[in-house]
Amino acid sequence: MRILMIGPPGAGKGTQGALIAAHFDIPRVVVGDLLRDHVARRTDLGRAVDGHLGRGELVPDEIILCIVRQALNAARAAGSGYVFDGLPRTMAQARAAYKIATELDMSANVAVHLRAEDKELTRRLLARAALEHRSDDTEQVIRHRLDLYQQVTQPIIAWYAQRGILVSVDAMRPVGEVGREILAALELMRPPAGHIPAGVRRPVDLTGLGARCAQT
Ligand code: AMP
Repeated sequence: MRILMIGPPGAGKGTQGALIAAHFDIPRVVVGDLLRDHVARRTDLGRAVDGHLGRGELVPDEIILCIVRQALNAARAAGSGYVFDGLPRTMAQARAAYKIATELDMSANVAVHLRAEDKELTRRLLARAALEHRSDDTEQVIRHRLDLYQQVTQPIIAWYAQRGILVSVDAMRPVGEVGREILAALELMRPPAGHIPAGVRRPVDLTGLGARCAQT
């Protein structure tokens, strides 16, 4: 399965993406985690994106698409599917990622869209802030990230609906309920050859992802 997770911050992309990856035994690329890891390690990429993350701004598309290309190449080399968490976030990213993926014969079969209301999202993100101390989980930056989602990410959803690969789920409900609904929908959409037997599979090497993307 080749899956994109789309939803506002706090909707549960991380939790549900992890569930999907475990269920289908596919690697998960969490773009936000990857960028935060580079920031923490003070790599060239980390230094290039640190300010964007702190302000809740989107990282330039060139950097994101460089990571996408590397991740898709790694998944393709391993004969595997993928779950992309937090990608795409702009229409330009969606179109460019689709082009790259199509060239590699790795375009997504499903876009999972998590829907939730701003009030609940803010409540969840502030609760997470108390536990994780993320630089972008302050009230002001949360507001900005939610606005950005409405303006530039939300419009992508219709594009996936038109392509017939959208699974849109009410993410206001308890985690387990949301997860069961997603897995049930994905099982129905699983392509006939979507399962690669364990013996045939090679490990997907995602280490070093993004390392050369700061120059883009
Ligand atoms: P997240 O953990 O998904 O909320 O992402 C945290 C931050 O990483 C975002 O606020 C952006 O600064 C950056 N980021 C993650 N994914 C993307 C993307 N697809 N495009 C641009 N920036 C991104």
